[in-house]
Amino acid sequence: MIKLVRGFKDILPADTALWQYVETTLRELLEDFGFAELRIPILEQTELFARSIGANTDIVEKEMYTFADRKGDSLTLRPEATASVVRAYIQHKLYAKDPVWKLYTIGPMFRRERPQKGRYRQFYQINAEVFGLHDPRADAELILLLMTFMRRLELSGIVLHINSLGCPECRPRFKESLKSFLADRSEQLCSDCLGRRDKNPLRIFDCKVPSCKESMQDAPSILDYLCHACQNHFFTVKEILDRFNIPYEINHSLVRGLDYYTRTTFEALAGALGAQDAVAGGGRYDGLVKALGGPDQPGVGFAVGVDRLTELLAGRAQGLEKRPDIFIAAIGERAQDIAFQWVQDFRLQGVRAEIDFENRSLKSQMRRADKFGASYVLIAGDRELDSKAAVLRNMTTKEQKEIPIQDLIGLVVNTIKTSITGSE
Ligand code: AMP
Repeated sequence: MIKLVRGFKDILPADTALWQYVETTLRELLEDFGFAELRIPILEQTELFARSIGANTDIVEKEMYTFADRKGDSLTLRPEATASVVRAYIQHKLYAKDPVWKLYTIGPMFRRERPQKGRYRQFYQINAEVFGLHDPRADAELILLLMTFMRRLELSGIVLHINSLGCPECRPRFKESLKSFLADRSEQLCSDCLGRRDKNPLRIFDCKVPSCKESMQDAPSILDYLCHACQNHFFTVKEILDRFNIPYEINHSLVRGLDYYTRTTFEALAGALGAQDAVAGGGRYDGLVKALGGPDQPGVGFAVGVDRLTELLAGRAQGLEKRPDIFIAAIGERAQDIAFQWVQDFRLQGVRAEIDFENRSLKSQMRRADKFGASYVLIAGDRELDSKAAVLRNMTTKEQKEIPIQDLIGLVVNTIKTSITGSE
């Protein structure tokens, strides 16, 4: 038997209702905050990611699915969405219409990481990106949106970490100080980090190797090196979070795995998930649009990991499954024939209707209706057709009533719709 590729997964029907619930909840919230959906391809030129994410990052060094297509062009399955959103913003000159855009996108990402619980090689993100706003209120608003989303999902125990990574004015001074801090720690650093020490020492904060983690504990804090403008920016972000009662922890080693971040970075963590506890992360990337050949417009965004959120919410999948409003138990060929018409009519009226084509006994059709969890069953056999009235059974109250066949669709649709609004 041919099986799934390692690190990839199927999302089965028992779980898709939960996935849709998470996606719809965030989609609605994003639209209330003025975001519009952008759909971007899964495949891009490799250079887009190499230039944006940064050559010395784990993603670019080890994790990308890159291949040469038949003409020899180097293509990559996207490991994240921001680079593609920026490419689209530049390529379609969206900035010319208005520099300020709020865009979101939903879809799979691909990273060849070591698979484990909560870490897949194809995983799903919902990304939100804001272009054209330098104002720290844009950063705070995104964090507010993210935490409102967590609250709407009724997730407790989500911890928000925030940091500032400074800007090209102040970060070089911090890098130099970090390099001198690391200069006499060669023995504690893993071979990857030794390589990064000169080129990109901030990456070492992300290393999971215990001796690297330990040696970084006394590392200098970027927050002590921020220039005046970056300090003010970070101050306003924190002030707004305080004003909206969003608790946060300042984590000066939160550098995030990509090179393009400036100033604010943030991450939402769920302790209940264990080792892979980040459910969302983001930050500001003021130089990225320009670095990719666009105008000098700032950006700020976040990515939510849908796989991990659905894992956190797994207990809630059951109540979300879509059940038929009505199951038609038709006994005998004459009834089956009419019921086939009814079931199509119900669906056209927005009623979720199901039927069994097997013409089984009433008892086994009732069992099937139960299995589907149908709210109502409409029973029709020769006797009902002769008396020109089918029987409608409410599966919760077990009440039954006769419905004249002549007005059947209208009457049943009415009963079902009233019971749905009544139970809301
Ligand atoms: P990142 O783009 O690395 O900042 O990731 C943003 C979010 O995507 C994380 O907080 C995770 O929830 C999710 N994520 C990242 N990598 C993976 C992965 N390999 N498997 C599952 N979810 C992931």
